[in-house]
Amino acid sequence: MPVHAWPGPAPGSTDWPGSGSGGWTMGADGPAAAGDRAGGRAAGPWTSSGAPRLPPRSLLLLFFLLLAVLGVRASSYKTCPKVQPDMLNVHLVAHTHDDVGWLKTVDQYFYGIHGNIQHAGVQYILDSVVSSLLADPTRRFIYVEIAFFSRWWKQQTRATQETVRELVRQGRLEFANGGWVMNDEATTHYGAIVDQMTLGLRFLEDTFGSDGRPTVAWHIDPFGHSREQASLFAQMGFDGFFFGRLDYQDKMFRENMREMEQVWRASSSLKPPAADLFTGVLPNMYNPPDNLCWDVLCDDMPVVDDPRSPEYNAKELVTYFLQLATAQARHYRTNHTIMTMGSDFQYENANMWFKNLDKLIHLVNSQQQANGSQVHVLYSTPACYLWELNKANLTWSVKQDDFFPYADGSYKFWTGYFSSRPALKRYERLSYNFLQVCNQLEALAGAAAIKGPYGLGDSAPLREAMAVLQHHDAVTGTSKQHVADDYARQLAQGWGPCEVLLSNALSWLSGSKDKFTFCRELNVSNCPLTQTEERFQVTIYNPLGRKLNWMVRLPVSGSIFLVKDPSGVTVPSKVVALQDPEGQEHPPELLFLASVPALGFSTYSVAQVPARQVKVRPSQPRHQSPVLVIQNEHIRASFSRDTGFLMEIENLDEKLVLPIRQAFFWYNASTGNNQSAQASGAYIFRPSRSKPLPVRHWAEIRVIKNDLVQEVHQNFSAWCSQVVRLYPGQRHLELEWTVGPIPVGDGWGKEVISRFDTLLETNGRFYTDSNGREILERRRDYRPTWNLNQTEPVAGNYYPVTSRIYITDGHMQLTVLTDRSQGGSSLSDGSLELMVHRRLLLDDARGVGEPLQEAGPDGQGPGLWVRGRHLVLLNTARAAASQHRLLAEEVVMAPQVVLAPMGSVPYSLETTQQTQFSGLLRELPPAVHLLTLARWDPETLLLRLEHQFAVGEGSDRNLSSPVTLDLRDLFTTFTITHLQETTLAVTQPRDRVSRLQWTTKTGPVTQAEPFFLDPAAITLQPMEIRTFLASVQWKKAIKT
Ligand SMILES: [Zn+2]
Repeated sequence: MPVHAWPGPAPGSTDWPGSGSGGWTMGADGPAAAGDRAGGRAAGPWTSSGAPRLPPRSLLLLFFLLLAVLGVRASSYKTCPKVQPDMLNVHLVAHTHDDVGWLKTVDQYFYGIHGNIQHAGVQYILDSVVSSLLADPTRRFIYVEIAFFSRWWKQQTRATQETVRELVRQGRLEFANGGWVMNDEATTHYGAIVDQMTLGLRFLEDTFGSDGRPTVAWHIDPFGHSREQASLFAQMGFDGFFFGRLDYQDKMFRENMREMEQVWRASSSLKPPAADLFTGVLPNMYNPPDNLCWDVLCDDMPVVDDPRSPEYNAKELVTYFLQLATAQARHYRTNHTIMTMGSDFQYENANMWFKNLDKLIHLVNSQQQANGSQVHVLYSTPACYLWELNKANLTWSVKQDDFFPYADGSYKFWTGYFSSRPALKRYERLSYNFLQVCNQLEALAGAAAIKGPYGLGDSAPLREAMAVLQHHDAVTGTSKQHVADDYARQLAQGWGPCEVLLSNALSWLSGSKDKFTFCRELNVSNCPLTQTEERFQVTIYNPLGRKLNWMVRLPVSGSIFLVKDPSGVTVPSKVVALQDPEGQEHPPELLFLASVPALGFSTYSVAQVPARQVKVRPSQPRHQSPVLVIQNEHIRASFSRDTGFLMEIENLDEKLVLPIRQAFFWYNASTGNNQSAQASGAYIFRPSRSKPLPVRHWAEIRVIKNDLVQEVHQNFSAWCSQVVRLYPGQRHLELEWTVGPIPVGDGWGKEVISRFDTLLETNGRFYTDSNGREILERRRDYRPTWNLNQTEPVAGNYYPVTSRIYITDGHMQLTVLTDRSQGGSSLSDGSLELMVHRRLLLDDARGVGEPLQEAGPDGQGPGLWVRGRHLVLLNTARAAASQHRLLAEEVVMAPQVVLAPMGSVPYSLETTQQTQFSGLLRELPPAVHLLTLARWDPETLLLRLEHQFAVGEGSDRNLSSPVTLDLRDLFTTFTITHLQETTLAVTQPRDRVSRLQWTTKTGPVTQAEPFFLDPAAITLQPMEIRTFLASVQWKKAIKT
């Protein structure tokens, strides 16, 4: 990828138009000089020699406004076509929707392989579109999926590339959205969304500069829309957002009320208009109107405009079109309306489409003269349509909730995919974790991470694979099985070069060369090194901005070990082993508590102590009370010996006691009934009855108790078990569930849930996160913006749970954190449930054409079994966020364990070996999440800092107050020499952003003032993310 360059003067220079306040360069005196503060405002940014002083703020403001009005805004829309102000303007948007994997793999789609599965070849689409655009300058086309476009681009000649650049410059080829993929909005974590958008948009910036920068976000196919997605788009600088799918009742309501377009206020913390996004519902999802599909994949009649032909249809067609346009426009508020002329993988023969559209435009517009028609039709783009809406200068209504769940009929709720393919969903989240670790170590070690003793390290393959996984048929679990396998393959291939990078970086930072090993199967207690070696070392890397105590668990073969911390002091360790009820022995696991500094690592040494094989038996107290208890200093959890179920949780610090029952149930998947033929499938959740069946009414239990862990092992059935676990010092209860292979021999598809039942009076309300960030209130059988007719009492109350769900009675709060995306609900007061696994026997008729069977390896296995964790917190409602915010951060950015046999050699002769390291000079405050630390180019790092509390949260510890950080000398391995703040997806300097403004019914908002960047005082407001490009110098350079 070429080095990223802003259009205009190079970063670091101080004479950019309007850039004065946004960039900061370290002065000749070093960081200290930058600390000079005058009257609370930093003089620092301007201490580089010869730099101008700041003009008065009022003048600056005027200058900004002028720039906004005259230059920046218009330039994005200057190529838009002419419209007729007194007519109804129909904007025809020629487009193709190219799934980055669905029925075929990414490569099969690109090259057009396996036409028998689906006729689709993206390379031909792009070839064909470019030729057709060149044939007529009035034609326009939009393209969306950069994963495909960038691949096609690299295969073109220079001449073709230059031609395409010209098309882009003239606005004839426009990019919409511009992400690597069109990501899903329910099952995606916000960090991964930001990463994938950044990857796609960077390609466009690098290739086309500002000409290629999309102004409109375009999610025409995702199955429901999250509020966080809109917030992120706003923060990326988009002017508007269009989508296709929303609940059929919601759509009807909006059409009647003419609320198809409004302003989405997508954050309850960020100050408007920071998270305001103009949002429009497309009239016909993303398809062309009936009878007007002129693709090679369609059968509609072409335009026959020769009156002598017996097939002549032009007159009829024009009449039809005029009626259609007028009817459609009734649902919208301006004299502009949009038609999406294209669909899945269309335009492989673009000429067919364009030839007929040319004729349609000519025929319809000629009616203006001939018959006084008031309809004007034109080739347009989403951006040009948006521009006209903005110019209409209306006052728009405001939306504050989201668009979940999505139903396209009474018994057709798309809430199954929240949980489909739970193993892929976990692998995706784990890969997000690993990519951040890889990014951080690449940033901390610099060039030494890429080229080192272990070969060439590279984070790009995992970054691209993760971007692909965000696609709305990937992490959603809605692709065909062979495509899901290919997604997993892409992730696995991405891990390899990141492991090399980690090895190089750890070796460089620790000063010693080791035979590093990564055990990718620790989740199933498989690690050849620790199971065969008697002596080994364990390096734990902590990607959080604060130090962490973390229980290390490794499968071993011995029974007693000596574990030493980085300073050589022995730390307590234990080996636990347990036979399961079938007598099968699990590998013994070594446990020890590691302490790891912020953004750093600790290396522990482990040596087996020769001893007689001691069988650790589950302790069985002689006098059995009817209640079994596990307890540490913060929590007590009680279990009934009769049922084996959890029966009470107590928060000992707050003296809160909550009677609770947790158990597993399954819904019998509908195969269709006399109300509707709709079956449960990869997308759709439709239980045949509202009441789920218990897996079993009791569980066999076994207990492990020692100084380092207390566990209750519950066995519900041959395919469902759970370990409830408590470590010393831990403030949450860990429930590690194992479900599968789900038996379907009885002919019943099953959707398995874990349910928590309490007596909390929750008044029909529960709370779920939006993409892992802000929290939304949910109410049973209710939608905030229309009168719901509830037809599916279970599926119609399911919501995406990306990271957490909770219920509260206002005093006490029960929160459950997940380790992957799941569907969840509260179907009766005091109850909370999460769907952990599903196995179905029928397809749900949404195109994938396969039942969600997940047989296992090569499609021949008995069915997948899946393991995961629910972390349960009981706290006061007031203090709950302080816990769940920080714990969720630990879950998504968990430590990475790297192993090596004993016997390291120094990196080089002059290096001293160190067993502990931190990349930070001081820890970040708890409210601050280091969202991104990654290499951007050889001299620049990408840095994102996030305030991870919302307004009003964490009031017990005052955690939602603004936080101010000093970035100078914050990092130990490099010095920041220049700092530039950018949009969330790094598309332009923050101070150059000027989004379209919209008037809302809630009244005027104050536009943000020009800001001043002072690296000594970076302030984060609740839920704010600030993105920086930092030019850096590494302190220790690699010797060549
Ligand atoms: Zn799609």
